[in-house]
Amino acid sequence: MSEGVSLYICPRCKKTFEHSEFLVLREVRCPHCGFRVVAKARSGRIKTLKAI
Ligand SMILES: [Zn+2]
Repeated sequence: MSEGVSLYICPRCKKTFEHSEFLVLREVRCPHCGFRVVAKARSGRIKTLKAI
């Protein structure tokens, strides 16, 4: 398991995705449901990111 990959999880639909997936959208947003809040899941820790 690589710890260098940043994984994000959507608190709404509970799906995980990589940073590159929402980079395409050019904003912090879940690529699956469009929810504007994503949580960062890294090394077992989850940190919430809020999009303004
Ligand atoms: Zn979502």
